[in-house]
Amino acid sequence: MAKISINIASGSIEKPKIVVGIDLGTTNSLVAYVPKGQGQSQIIPIRGNGIVPSVVHFDAHDVPAVGVYAKDKLLGQPERTIYSVKRLLGKNYGDIPLNTLDIGYRIIDDSSENMVKVQVGSRFYNPIELSAEILKELKQQAEVSLGVLVEQAVITVPAYFNESQRQATRDAGKLAGLDVLRIINEPTAASLAYGIQEQSQGHVLVYDLGGGTFDVSVLQIEDGVFEVLSTHGDTYLGGDDIDRRIAEYWREQTSQEANEKTPFAELRIWAEKAKIELSNNKNAVFEYVFESGMKVYLDYAVLVKIANPILEKTWNSVKKALKDAQLTPADIQEVVLVGGSTRFPEIQEQLTQWFAESRINNQINPDEVVALGAAIEADVLAGNRSDVLLLDVTPLSLGIETAGGLMDVLIPRNSKIPVRVGREYTTSVDGQVNLKVSVFQGERELVAENRQLGSFILEGIPSMPAGMPKIEIQFALNADGMLQVQAKELRSGVVQKVEIQPSYGLTDAQVEEMLLSGLTNAKTDVEERLLRESQNEARQIIYTTERFIEKNANLLSNEEKAGTEQRIETVRGLIDNGDRHVLQTAIENLNDFSRPFAERLMDIAVSKALKGNRIDQMK
Ligand code: ADP
Ligand code: MG
Repeated sequence: MAKISINIASGSIEKPKIVVGIDLGTTNSLVAYVPKGQGQSQIIPIRGNGIVPSVVHFDAHDVPAVGVYAKDKLLGQPERTIYSVKRLLGKNYGDIPLNTLDIGYRIIDDSSENMVKVQVGSRFYNPIELSAEILKELKQQAEVSLGVLVEQAVITVPAYFNESQRQATRDAGKLAGLDVLRIINEPTAASLAYGIQEQSQGHVLVYDLGGGTFDVSVLQIEDGVFEVLSTHGDTYLGGDDIDRRIAEYWREQTSQEANEKTPFAELRIWAEKAKIELSNNKNAVFEYVFESGMKVYLDYAVLVKIANPILEKTWNSVKKALKDAQLTPADIQEVVLVGGSTRFPEIQEQLTQWFAESRINNQINPDEVVALGAAIEADVLAGNRSDVLLLDVTPLSLGIETAGGLMDVLIPRNSKIPVRVGREYTTSVDGQVNLKVSVFQGERELVAENRQLGSFILEGIPSMPAGMPKIEIQFALNADGMLQVQAKELRSGVVQKVEIQPSYGLTDAQVEEMLLSGLTNAKTDVEERLLRESQNEARQIIYTTERFIEKNANLLSNEEKAGTEQRIETVRGLIDNGDRHVLQTAIENLNDFSRPFAERLMDIAVSKALKGNRIDQMK
């Protein structure tokens, strides 16, 4: 192994690359991959273990260590040992329920909207940096283990993670030197590990009870595409709670003196050991004598009694998730068990009663199943298999160009697909008979900075005044990522369609770059958009006002004409001046001046334009 790692470090030998799947868990993290040509995923051993505790310890010189070693420091140096960092990811101080968070390290309130920070000695770390430490360890040790470079990964997140938590996970990957090809939902990954995507349709319930979190998700599968119908859970409920209750139970059973000599943290560590031992062997009896002399005892029946209130809470969440998805247990074909705590036989027994007609998928190790599924997705993205269809969300927004070069988004990024969206537009010039539809992809406000996917012209719009035609643009993105764009003039029925492949030719790195540029430029983009909107408005108002004056010259006084023309020139002169506020003032000036007679003339103009149409046909 050592020899291989030297090769990697020196970079002297060209190594093959692989894409791995990573389960970045609250309690434990794992990496998996699909060996070339095998189709089956397997867990990559990290320093001899499959499971890596998601714990980061900083020594006196602020050097980080991750995993089993770090976890061992929890007892002695809790203030320098960070665990459950996933709970902090993508959150600011105000988001964190400190009373529920049972931690020995310091979280800093810097009263900012920024991400919360953790203080260790004189240093500060944000959750992205801390998660990156875990990912770095996983990446480096996986390279040692496999003897290949690990540069690309799929990382899983809970289904309930919001945009900023997902982005934070991506950023942590980047910071760890990983190209994160995709973020996928943990329940989707678990379903992939069981090959459930091969079914053409059905409902899957994923029950995930980990160390500190519980979540249940109801997925709908259709033609291999997963959609999360509902998700419920408790981010402060898990195996740790069972451990705590066992420790409390032991305290109740013991004299005060013995209790005082035994730290609660130590009781909890042994409580977990007892739980796991009894869970693996129902007939065993757990007994232990602490250094303090405190004697403890546990058997399976007592364990079930202690754990039951926690299981009860999970069933309530299951009920709610089913209700939100408008389903009953009988509608669920597959139940998937995820999370180390589901090894507890009592959970499996109660679940079987709940879902008597469903298939219970519990053959794969529940603590490995998410990573194993992520590796399958990774293998697809590496181009090694085509049996799994994975495009379940669009990575970038899709929209069209509107006046002034603005991007009007019809399908926002991360929309579930398939999806169909329609929106109405109209013309900006009188008598316009053609309309150019340009389709773009990207996160910027201006189309010039996004990527053009294609364009076409809708021809044969009946000649009407500007604003009168009703043109519906419809985007339909199917499960293969094919986008069909249709433009239809609703009054006449004139229609035009094109089909485009949005992701074609875009590497994930480009997608990433576009997302990043969208984020970093968000502020200037908004300013730019507002300016362009004012410029559009200015051009529009000059156009319409000039036409009114021209058409109705004999109905206006000389003062009205001269005053309007002078204000039009002012607006015209300010369009390219770049100051939105000055331009806006000039527009208002023109508006205020012309309003009294424009209103009068507008009625005449409109009734002329509508000649031959019944009024009630118009909006
Ligand atoms: P997470 O997803 O939060 O990172 P895991 O899925 O790794 O967590 O689950 C960790 C939890 O599983 C711990 O609370 C641990 O005690 C519990 N666990 C592991 N093995 C067993 C077992 N055999 N019986 C009951 N609980 C177990
Ligand atoms: Mg988990």
